[in-house]
Amino acid sequence: MKSGALHRIVIAGGGAGGLELAVRLGRRHGPDHVTLVDATPFHIWKPSLHEVAAGTVDIHRDGLSYAMLAHDNGFRFVLGEITEVDRQAREVRVAALSDADGGLILPERGVPYDTLVLAIGSLGNFFNTPGAEQYAISLDTTDAAERFRLELLKAMARASAGTDVATPGVVNVVIVGGGATGVELAAELHEAGRTISAYGLPGMTPDKLRITLIEGGPRILGPLPERVARAAEALLVERGVQVVADCRVSQVTPHSVVAQDKVFDADLCVWAAGIKAPALMGRLGLELNGMQQIKVDETLRTADPAIYAIGDCAAAPWRETGKTVPARAQAAHQQASYLAPILSARIRGETPPAQPFRFRDFGSLVSIGHAEGVGSLMGNLSGRKLLVEGWIARMMYAGTHWSHYAAVLGWWGASLRSLSRLLSRRSQPRVKLH
Ligand SMILES: Cc1cc2nc3c(=O)[nH]c(=O)nc-3n(C[C@H](O)[C@H](O)[C@H](O)COP(=O)(O)OP(=O)(O)OC[C@H]3O[C@@H](n4cnc5c(N)ncnc54)[C@H](O)[C@@H]3O)c2cc1C
Repeated sequence: MKSGALHRIVIAGGGAGGLELAVRLGRRHGPDHVTLVDATPFHIWKPSLHEVAAGTVDIHRDGLSYAMLAHDNGFRFVLGEITEVDRQAREVRVAALSDADGGLILPERGVPYDTLVLAIGSLGNFFNTPGAEQYAISLDTTDAAERFRLELLKAMARASAGTDVATPGVVNVVIVGGGATGVELAAELHEAGRTISAYGLPGMTPDKLRITLIEGGPRILGPLPERVARAAEALLVERGVQVVADCRVSQVTPHSVVAQDKVFDADLCVWAAGIKAPALMGRLGLELNGMQQIKVDETLRTADPAIYAIGDCAAAPWRETGKTVPARAQAAHQQASYLAPILSARIRGETPPAQPFRFRDFGSLVSIGHAEGVGSLMGNLSGRKLLVEGWIARMMYAGTHWSHYAAVLGWWGASLRSLSRLLSRRSQPRVKLH
């Protein structure tokens, strides 16, 4: 299809929502119309970050280069962190890029837009808990997940040598937050710990990696049906994870997590107790909610008609429940699909279709390691939630990962990627050890 006068769409953030949108629009309209800006040079789907943290996903092998994706899908890619949005000049400011020694690679740049889509995701919310930001790691970026992986390997080596750990010979990992992220990380760490032990750290038997999952509410997986939460807890307990509910953390120190009347030894603490949108959202002069998310209307547009927002950084109304659309990859995906024809119409200079965005909750799946999962799916005919468990749930969970990669690489590319990951397991350890 022939595109109209040059209308520049800039997508800020190439995550679950932004990248899928850039691919859809780029394939249709090309790089003169579509630019993606991301702070990192490669894409890892955020729901895989617990696997990066456990070392079962290797960012250097599994990350997708934005430069390659841009070339193959017809959009322009700009590398760098967006620091400001100048709404008057309609330009985003992208920070200069330097190497580890401070040498300048790219100067500060301005990227002009006619329509801007904010898709910069979210960060961990520490709720001002003393010590949490300083001593806990939040799995909100690939860098943070990779840092956790290296800290875990070091802690296990130290424990094996009997040096500098809270309990000699043991590594205590405390995960604060019993939502899907915390639950999936606990199970993944359990499996990773077994593999790392098997590769010969003297004395580090799998039981020496002690994982505690702390939840402030009465049970883990609060938004999911109780049956799903019970099934997940049973699987975690079976794997030796200590699950502590109704326990509010009040402080994190270098070697402990303090909660009400209890102190948990912690060589490593992961914070997975909530999210907020990045601080950039507060600098736009547009209305935010309590989680710093920018308010959008039912067409995902902010109060500035040139700016849309999708994914975790947006507070979009969910009419059926009276709440906002949940911060989930499936919501970011649906919003990208919804926005693509609207932005296509803007590029062509036509009036965009006017129907509002409707979030369809297809349910949630939670992986409990590589062989099992639990979840609830929306029955299309009955409208009721159906419980799924075991390897079927795990396969369906893997299917959601595959469909994201199919959206950006195509069916064939995503299948080859899965196959190559499967084959590489024959020649590489299941957990990245370096
Ligand atoms: C461990 C974990 C497991 C999860 N599991 C699930 C799951 O099973 N199912 C599910 O539905 N959801 C899951 N989620 C939530 C899901 O990952 C998010 O809801 C989803 O990724 C949000 O998509 P997004 O496009 O809004 O942001 P993201 O996918 O977070 O992407 C944001 C992008 O913006 C870039 N960026 C940020 N700031 C800037 C800036 N200033 N300048 C330039 N670029 C910037 C980032 O580099 C990133 O690429 C999980 C989350 C985590 C952490």
